[in-house]
Amino acid sequence: MKKVAIVGGGISGLATAFQISKRLRSAGCDHQLRVFEAQAHVGGKIGAARRDGFLCEAGPNGFLDSKPSTLELCDELGLTGKLLRSEDAASRRYIYSRGQLHALPGSPPAFFRSKLLDLPAKLRIVGELWAPPSAPGSDPTVAEFGRRRLGPQATARLLDPMVSGVFAGDPERLSLGSCFPRIAELEAQYKSLIRAMLALQFKRGARRSNAGPAGPGGTLTSFADGLSVLPATLAERLGEQLVCAAPLHSLQRTGHGYRLQFQGAASDYDCDVAVLALQACDASAPLRALDEGLAGLLQQFEYAPVAVVGLGYEQAAFGRSLDGFGFLVPGEEQRKILGSLWTSSIFAQRAPEGHVLLRTLVGGARNPQLATLSEADLVALVRAELAAILGVAATPVFAQVFTWPQAICQYTVGHRERLSQMDRHLSALPGLFITGNAFRGVALNDCTRNAALVAEGVAEYLRQLA
Ligand SMILES: Cc1cc2nc3c(=O)[nH]c(=O)nc-3n(C[C@H](O)[C@H](O)[C@H](O)COP(=O)(O)OP(=O)(O)OC[C@H]3O[C@@H](n4cnc5c(N)ncnc54)[C@H](O)[C@@H]3O)c2cc1C
Repeated sequence: MKKVAIVGGGISGLATAFQISKRLRSAGCDHQLRVFEAQAHVGGKIGAARRDGFLCEAGPNGFLDSKPSTLELCDELGLTGKLLRSEDAASRRYIYSRGQLHALPGSPPAFFRSKLLDLPAKLRIVGELWAPPSAPGSDPTVAEFGRRRLGPQATARLLDPMVSGVFAGDPERLSLGSCFPRIAELEAQYKSLIRAMLALQFKRGARRSNAGPAGPGGTLTSFADGLSVLPATLAERLGEQLVCAAPLHSLQRTGHGYRLQFQGAASDYDCDVAVLALQACDASAPLRALDEGLAGLLQQFEYAPVAVVGLGYEQAAFGRSLDGFGFLVPGEEQRKILGSLWTSSIFAQRAPEGHVLLRTLVGGARNPQLATLSEADLVALVRAELAAILGVAATPVFAQVFTWPQAICQYTVGHRERLSQMDRHLSALPGLFITGNAFRGVALNDCTRNAALVAEGVAEYLRQLA
C-alpha cells in the first residue's frame, strides 16, 4: 500500500488531497492518504465571522468564474447549485484619486471621458502601440513595465492600485512576468498590449466583457454561506483522513520515503509521498534537517502583512449609494488604506436588511507597520479614512478585524529564478512535492489549478514506483 501525506489544510492542501485521491482510486492504486493541518480547523486564509446577520470573510471573498479549475472542483463536489454570483453592480470598480472616486472606464469612450487621467496621460496610453518591448530574458518590475508601455500617470493611477488589489504589493519590486504572466506573454507575442487586446477581441468576436481595463475578467463567485463551504465540503469528504491540530515539526528521509514528525500529540507518519501545501515561510523550518539549502531558499519568499477590517453600518449612514465593488487607493495618494470592498454590494446576503458591510484592507508591502496596529486602532484608522473618502461619520453597528502577518507572498524580481532553484532541490528529493499560493499564482483559481497539476505528478511518481 502506498502512503501519501499532505501537510496544510488550506484550499491548496485540501484540493490537492481531493485530486490525488481521485487519481489513485481511478488507477486502482491501493493507498492511504492523510492531510495534516496545524490548526483545529481547515481553510487556512478562508474563514469568516458571522454575527447579527453579517457575514464577514477573513480573507478571500470569492473566486473568478473566468478560469475553470475552482468551478470544476465545485462541480465534482456537487456544489454547483450552491454557487452565488456577485451582483451586476459589482462590475463597477472605483479608484480614489485626488479627493474623488473615479469609476474605472469600461469602454474607449468612457476612458476618454474619465477624469482619472489627464489628456496627455491618455494620449500617452495610445503611444503604447510604439513603446519599446521588454528586453529578451529580462525580468522587469510591474512599475518599470508600466512606465515604459503606458506612461507614469497610468502606472501610478491604474497599475499601482491593481497591484494593491491583488498582491497588497509594491509595483517597484514585483516582477511583471511572475505576477501577471499573461500580460508579459501578450507583450512578447504582439509587441503591444493595445494590439493584443484588439487581436483577441477580433478572435473572440468582440464578446461582452464585464471588466474595465484594470479590472479582472470574470464574475466573482462564492456561496450564500460564505467561501468556507468549499474547504468544509472537502474536509467532509476526507473524513478520518484529515488530522487537525497536527503542526508539522520536521521531515526526514526513510528508506522508501519520508517520516513526518509533529509538535503535540500526533504520531509520526511514514509515507512514500509528502506534499507540503504551506506558505513558503511555514514550509522552511520543517525542511531544515532534510535540505538546509531548500529551507533557506523558502525563507527568501517575502510576504506582505494585511489587516482586514470589516465594518457594518446602517445603510442610511451613507450619503451615496455603494454602487460597485468598492475602491482601491493608488500609493501616490499617501492614504492609510489600500482600498475598501463594498461587500454587501458584491453579495447582498453579507449584511442584514437595511445595512451595508465594507471590508477595508490596511498594510501591505508599503505600509506593513499599519497591519500590526491593535484592533481598536485599526477600527479607528479605517473609520477616519472612510469618513474622509466616503463621508461616513456614523458609528458602525458591526466591527471585525482579521490580521494576516503573512497575507500574500510577494512575487518580487527573481521569483522565477527562485522557483527554478526550488525545482532543482526537489529533483534530488523524489516523492517530495511543494505547492501553495506562494509559488505559481496567488489566487484561489491558481491553488485549485496547481492542485490538479501536483496530483498528476504524484500519481505519475507512484506509477513509476509500482
Ligand atoms: C486578505 C486576503 C484576501 C484575499 N482575497 C482573495 C480573493 O478575493 N480571491 C482569491 O482568489 N484569492 C484571494 N486571496 C488569496 C487566497 O486567500 C489564497 O490564495 C489561498 O487561500 C491560499 O491557500 P493555501 O492553501 O495555499 O494557503 P493557506 O490558506 O495559508 O493554508 C496553509 C495552511 O497550512 C497550515 N499550516 C501552516 N503551518 C503548518 C504546519 N507546520 N503543519 C501543518 N499545517 C500547517 C495553516 O494553518 C493553513 O491552514 C486573498 C488572500 C488574503 C490574505
